Amino acid sequence: MRFNKVLENIQTYEAGKPIELVVREFGIAPEDVVKLASNENPIGTAPAVAEVIRSHADKAHLYPDDSMFELKAALSEKYGVEDDNIIIGAGSDQVLEFISRALLNETESVLMSAVTFAMYEIYAKQMGAKIYRTASYAHKYDEFMKAYRMYHPKIVYICTPNNPTGDATSKEEVLRIIEAVDTDTLVVVDGAYMEYAAAKDARYAITPKELLCYEHVIYLGTFSKAYGLGGMRVGYGIAQSALIKQLYKMRPPFNITTLSLAAAIEAAKDTAFVEKSVALHQDQIKRYEAFAKEHGLRYIESYTNFITYLFPETLDSTEISDGLLKRGVIIRNLASYGMNAIRITVGTAAQNDTFFKHFAEVIA
Ligand SMILES: *Cc1c(COP(=O)(O)O)cnc(C)c1O
Repeated sequence: MRFNKVLENIQTYEAGKPIELVVREFGIAPEDVVKLASNENPIGTAPAVAEVIRSHADKAHLYPDDSMFELKAALSEKYGVEDDNIIIGAGSDQVLEFISRALLNETESVLMSAVTFAMYEIYAKQMGAKIYRTASYAHKYDEFMKAYRMYHPKIVYICTPNNPTGDATSKEEVLRIIEAVDTDTLVVVDGAYMEYAAAKDARYAITPKELLCYEHVIYLGTFSKAYGLGGMRVGYGIAQSALIKQLYKMRPPFNITTLSLAAAIEAAKDTAFVEKSVALHQDQIKRYEAFAKEHGLRYIESYTNFITYLFPETLDSTEISDGLLKRGVIIRNLASYGMNAIRITVGTAAQNDTFFKHFAEVIA
């Protein structure tokens, strides 16, 4: 079989390792495995949301409301936008896919930071587009504009806060880039971790409403992180209605499930849960900063629900990740991003205790 040529240089996305794998390979009991690899919400699913999912269990034979009226109404209210400014995806990942399919082909290119969310590259490559990256993982105006003028990419990705590094770009800097870019280039502002950044420092808080005056910008948000619904796969894009209308042409019918839709509607209203998640996180991440300082490790100041530890040459991120895995601790090795570093999702107090215990032994 001959597949499309573009497939030849696509690397399959490698998700965080599942708990089941550690149980199978290392014979560790599932309750002893600590997974801090996929930026999932450590406090789990909000009880009210879990209840709604259960109560919809006998509606699984029904397609969901394809207009997603109630979910859009909840998001409209939350963000102060209209329902025709919103498109829902099976994760914001699916919205990224719609964007790539709507805009890219073999003659186009995309621009992103040196180290950022892996799916931007994969979706662009699927369309045969070229990838350009700036030199830094931080989103720097000068680097972006230099590359922008050189390559005139069709899409510019600004992941803020950035995954897998954890740093963020100030609103001022994001707006500077947006305003310097022509309107035939789409600027994607991926705010998957915005709830954490906004709570930490107002200068990094960006709302979709304040981007709505730009015809060439889309804001992406997700229920997978602060809202605790990674397993339900719901995300969204918010932009001017003309842009949303085009993306809708790429959408398969019923693209999220009946249970996901019900869960997201409930989660959107449950602001107390998000606040609780963020508060726990802010409390626990201090321990990671203190641990790093104590052990003479560098880390990237985090605006997300994870922290990235940077290793000196004497430590190898792959060896450390493997060592942790054997002990039932799953974290993310950033070697594949060209960094001698690991990304750890900040867990509950107990999960973090386990991490520190094993990590201290592994690096000793
Ligand atoms: C987690 C994440 C997403 C989207 O996740 P979904 O689960 O598909 O909504 C998008 N961008 C970044 C940077 C992420 O970390």
